[in-house]
Amino acid sequence: MKHKDEIEQVMAMIDAAIGSAASYREALADAKEEIARGGNREQLRMIVESLVRATRDVETSNETLQQRLNDSRQEIQTLEKNLAVVRTESLTDPLTTLANRKFFNNSIHRLIAEAEAKTSPLSVVLTDIDHFKNFNDSYGHLTGDQVLRLVAVTVKQEIKGQDIAARYGGEEFAILLPRTALTQAVTVADHIRGSVMRKELIRRSTGESLGRVTISLGVATWRRADTISTLMERADACLYAAKRGGRNCVIAETALDDEAESQVA
Ligand code: GH3
Ligand code: MG
Ligand code: MG
Repeated sequence: MKHKDEIEQVMAMIDAAIGSAASYREALADAKEEIARGGNREQLRMIVESLVRATRDVETSNETLQQRLNDSRQEIQTLEKNLAVVRTESLTDPLTTLANRKFFNNSIHRLIAEAEAKTSPLSVVLTDIDHFKNFNDSYGHLTGDQVLRLVAVTVKQEIKGQDIAARYGGEEFAILLPRTALTQAVTVADHIRGSVMRKELIRRSTGESLGRVTISLGVATWRRADTISTLMERADACLYAAKRGGRNCVIAETALDDEAESQVA
């Protein structure tokens, strides 16, 4: 049944229950009057009988309403569950089951506010698979998808409960590390890098070895003057420095400053 109809029906039953309570009150008042007027045994018996009938009617209407309210409560619980599933799905990347970009955006707002309030560091790691286009070209897009899944699982294995890993773009992942300073974030990033590199890729259908993939990573930490864009741009600049530096490595924003300085010198 449509929820609108359901709600309307329940409302109608509540109205009916209110109505029957009102007529019950009237029946009681009438009976009181009649009893006050006095009467014979037969008249009293009739009054009592009509009261019993009125009581039974009210009981029946209350029971029906109760049943309907129970049904509605169950319906609401089902709807709540469905809503939670849909909400989770809308924030999840279906291929990797990591958080999606939307969840990442929601989270970064929240974590920045938290970092500012508690003056605790918030770091972000951006990762990108090296030469992934070549991999897809050699082994096909579907196998590429499996590799994306494997990298996602590896990232997840290397982070803790408070950390958030999201699929940021096609073959890029972003990781938010609350209460984590730059040097610690670099350590996490390097663990992820090493872990991905050590995975040997086997094509499931044939058992054929497809070698390994590596990832490059950039790491930046939130500064008070940052916006989300400037923070992400810094992480991205680090990631591209890692690519320029030969890939399969981690570059932190401190190294970026050194690089800029050496270009000026
Ligand atoms: P680099 O080391 O510079 O990052 O080289 P690259 O080839 O990885 O970089 P580029 O950005 O040129 O290519 C990214 C490739 O990632 C393009 C596309 O083939 C692949 N890719 C992006 N999204 C997906 C996806 O959802 N599935 C698969 N299989 N491949 C994807
Ligand atoms: Mg890329
Ligand atoms: Mg790439």
